[in-house]
Amino acid sequence: MIDLHFHSYYSDGIYSPKDLVKKLKENSFNFVSLTDHNTIDGVEEFLKEGKKVRLKLLSGVEIYTNYQNKNFHLLGYGFDLKNKELNRVLKELQAQRIPRVKKAIKILQNEGWEINEKEVFNTESSYLGLVHLANPLVKHPKNWERIKKDFNWFEGKIIPITEIIVKYFIRNKKSICPETEISIEQAIKLIKSAGGQSVLAHPGQQLFWKDDNLIFELQKMGLDGVEAISSHHSWQEIEHWQKVAKELGLIITAGSDFHGDLPKEWGFPISSQWEYFTPTTKLNL
Ligand SMILES: [Zn+2]
Ligand SMILES: [Zn+2]
Repeated sequence: MIDLHFHSYYSDGIYSPKDLVKKLKENSFNFVSLTDHNTIDGVEEFLKEGKKVRLKLLSGVEIYTNYQNKNFHLLGYGFDLKNKELNRVLKELQAQRIPRVKKAIKILQNEGWEINEKEVFNTESSYLGLVHLANPLVKHPKNWERIKKDFNWFEGKIIPITEIIVKYFIRNKKSICPETEISIEQAIKLIKSAGGQSVLAHPGQQLFWKDDNLIFELQKMGLDGVEAISSHHSWQEIEHWQKVAKELGLIITAGSDFHGDLPKEWGFPISSQWEYFTPTTKLNL
């Protein structure tokens, strides 16, 4: 099974790269890539552990980018992990994230939430996600009482962490802790100059079908592929983005965007995302 989109605890995933590899092997994956947000700190461990169990592997990353006032996630594959410029830019994005996280903590404290910097930053993560702000909210009993009330909780009801994030961190469609980004053109060129290939992640999340020509513009900048087969896409979207990629001669990739096991009731256990389709994609990466 091919899946080139996983997260570890070096960004906002749950598992260490080592445990993730174990999980992937158990679930019969054979060609995989770790693509943490704005960091490649887990990739070496992932490649090392993956090789031991004979997985086919690619170095990977998912960079937060923007283009024409829209946010895009750009996947990079097969680049040199030691590339200086790539490492420099990622370290900078990570450093810029810290004051934003601190600011968000202040906002939440002012609103009466029990949350402190120490517990948020007590993590392996090189690039903190919104989940690092959401966890203390759920864990603290006083916070939990408040959440239960806000969500009209009853015994047995599950409140997804994603809904907590949307309810408390998104204000007027803007996050209280925005991601740090570079332009998509810079990111495409960065990956290329590090010897890798770039792929637009889950285009269906950011684009409508009428935005097809935007893919062509990105291709002119050097984009190599489109993650047409994504768990974020509907069947129609999978069809559509494959068609667009084929017409332009772009690589088609497949990715689950797995961050960790979630309660079964949410419908996202690791293998079920793949029961709906078998990737038949030919990858010339
Ligand atoms: Zn993404
Ligand atoms: Zn992702």
